[in-house]
Amino acid sequence: MQKEGLHLLRFVESSRAFDNNCKLKLALFLSGIKPATYVHLKITDNLHDKHEFERLLRLNGFPFEVSRPKGFEEIVGINGSKVVWRFKGTWHGYDLFQSRKQQAQFHEYVSLIRQRNHRKADVLGGKLYGYPSCCVQAFIKRHDLKKLAKYSYYEFYNMLHDMDRVFPFIAHTPCSAKCRQTILLNANYKALVKKNAPVFFKEYSGRRVHRVNLIIDAENDIGAWKKKDGFDYSVITDKPVEGHYLVVSWLSRKQYERGTVLSATLTLQYDYALVKPGRVVRVIKDLHHERKFSG
Ligand SMILES: [Zn+2]
Repeated sequence: MQKEGLHLLRFVESSRAFDNNCKLKLALFLSGIKPATYVHLKITDNLHDKHEFERLLRLNGFPFEVSRPKGFEEIVGINGSKVVWRFKGTWHGYDLFQSRKQQAQFHEYVSLIRQRNHRKADVLGGKLYGYPSCCVQAFIKRHDLKKLAKYSYYEFYNMLHDMDRVFPFIAHTPCSAKCRQTILLNANYKALVKKNAPVFFKEYSGRRVHRVNLIIDAENDIGAWKKKDGFDYSVITDKPVEGHYLVVSWLSRKQYERGTVLSATLTLQYDYALVKPGRVVRVIKDLHHERKFSG
């Protein structure tokens, strides 16, 4: 990596403008292994980060495109039965490219999506973002929701969670938990991030355990299943954890009423959260969200 490239990576590692997921994508893109990437840059009181990021991108000769600002909210409290959200700041989406060639391919990709030519778009998108072709083909097939009927609810969501746990360094959905290409890619990405972004690597791979209360919110359900044998819930911590109220996805065999508060052990590592449920503490009747603003 060139000296200025390193400078850019150090900036990304230390900036509050990027979440872990975006830092990971940037570390891989700046290591030269991803032809293109897409990240969010968040601004609260750190507007200078936007200028610095763009200055360093130009200095390194990476073509980029930036979206107009959009607002974002965060949970600031649980007040009775209300989950209270407040406007926190703005974010910009950045498409980054190694060179003009990838930028031209990206424009082709966007126009294929506009023409609803999803199959061709997914193939080109997979190439741009460095996804294995076996996984891209599996992803295209999965567009067809009827194919989900071969899974039970629990099997399907458990598979998604498993893949998150097994492959914390990749951004695509693997064709299977045994996909050889993905196993190699995950190991390769891990080694690159460890070498090129050691500060971020340490933060990202560190395991943190918290004793918390979790509030059961909405249930995810996208398909027609062979069998409805599980419940994938969004759960919310009832207090800030590491500075934020967290919303995580948890697959349960047991059904809970919305608003149920459970004691739990929450293990955070990489970009996932493991939930070990304890006892039911209470039930919040009529749990609902109060959002003043949607961005
Ligand atoms: Zn695959």
